[in-house]
Amino acid sequence: MPEEHHYDLVVVGGGPAGSSAAYTAAKNGIKVALLEKESTIAETVRTSGVTWIQNIKEFGIPDDCFNPIKNFSFCSPNNEVTISDTIPRAAVLDVRKTYRWLANEAEQCGADIFVKMNIKNVIKNEKGDIVGVNGVGPNGETIFHSKVVIDASGFQSTVCKAMGFVEQWERFGAGAEYEMKVEHVDSETWWLMVGQEYSPAGYAWIFPLGNNIVRIGVGVGKPESNVDPTQRLKEIIDKKLGPIKKLGKLTEIEFHYGLIPNDGLSRKTVFNNLILVGDSAGQANPLVLEGIRYAIKFGRVAGKVASDAIKSGKTDKESLYPYEENWRKEIESKIKSAGKVQDRWIGLTDEEWDKELDIIKELRPEEFIDFIKADFGLSNMIKLATHHPKLAVRQLFNLVKGKK
Ligand SMILES: Cc1cc2nc3c(=O)[nH]c(=O)nc-3n(C[C@H](O)[C@H](O)[C@H](O)COP(=O)(O)OP(=O)(O)OC[C@H]3O[C@@H](n4cnc5c(N)ncnc54)[C@H](O)[C@@H]3O)c2cc1C
Repeated sequence: MPEEHHYDLVVVGGGPAGSSAAYTAAKNGIKVALLEKESTIAETVRTSGVTWIQNIKEFGIPDDCFNPIKNFSFCSPNNEVTISDTIPRAAVLDVRKTYRWLANEAEQCGADIFVKMNIKNVIKNEKGDIVGVNGVGPNGETIFHSKVVIDASGFQSTVCKAMGFVEQWERFGAGAEYEMKVEHVDSETWWLMVGQEYSPAGYAWIFPLGNNIVRIGVGVGKPESNVDPTQRLKEIIDKKLGPIKKLGKLTEIEFHYGLIPNDGLSRKTVFNNLILVGDSAGQANPLVLEGIRYAIKFGRVAGKVASDAIKSGKTDKESLYPYEENWRKEIESKIKSAGKVQDRWIGLTDEEWDKELDIIKELRPEEFIDFIKADFGLSNMIKLATHHPKLAVRQLFNLVKGKK
């Protein structure tokens, strides 16, 4: 006999989106299960963990979970730029510590966490709506009945695929990175490396974590390029390309690999009794494919909306729609603008990248941060497109606005 559980809300996936949804839902007083297929939360790291201090503070993430960054270096084959700020605005997360803190917050509020719980299928009622999930746990086959399910399973989107609502992402990023001990590194400076040799459709990076540890990685856009990021990463490390040579002797600590959707905001994210959040909803900034802050922010919104709906006794798609309304209002136009810059960047030759860095150099630190975060507030964008003292910057922001 399969093991059976009954919950108000079941959240599939113990990443940042799932833990954050479980947190606000449990805090709102309903019975929540958070299901994770790995043996522990964040057993496998699939991300570089860059995010922004403003968001870290907003979420209440503790200070010992991140390394602050205040200098942003870019290099292309024949150019190099560093934008130096007076205070750190970016950060590289200790991913395990942060994700476990998020899950712990949910547990403290009463959510039950089930690890080694690999969800494979959905349970539907006579109308075809989802009313639970099932999979394999430590005691074999396990069934979870619930009023609402949140699919926070990341790139794979296990639940909404099992419902037949979505297929595999067509456009996505593939990334490989090594966490390494190095001899020399400035712990407050990150590097983004662009041009064909680093990645033909994407970029490479060096993100410092403090204590002479860095993440060195390569991201490649699919299907634009068929380059294998792991292979390319090994090549640029062997060649000690660009700023990698400054790091001195490299000692491998851990290898990370992951996929991130890059299909724009193409998915519906609410159905009867079902919400999609985080990577399963495609909620990432396409400029640098960063999604952690959106996963946490909209995970929290999803948990609140789902739990309010459960309390009200109505969990159809109309009742869950305030969640979709919330995230669309906040990021839809920004993500569209960022997509335009990404399209421009993916087509650049090495020589064009050299020139692009000359434009980036003209941005003040706070303009650069807004740009790379894709925080294109309309008034800000118009200001930059109309009044920036440098013509090249005005042209870049006119492109973001949609003008040729
Ligand atoms: C190489 C790479 C580098 C990146 N770098 C950055 C960065 O620097 N900054 C940034 O903000 N974003 C970055 N991202 C993106 C970021 O990692 C994601 O946007 C973010 O992790 C999304 O969170 P999530 O909770 O939706 O999904 P995930 O973090 O993928 O979490 C999903 C969870 O669900 C679990 N799961 C999956 N299937 C099942 C199942 N069937 N049953 C039970 N559990 C299941 C998984 O084990 C996992 O724990 C990067 C992505 C990649 C691939």
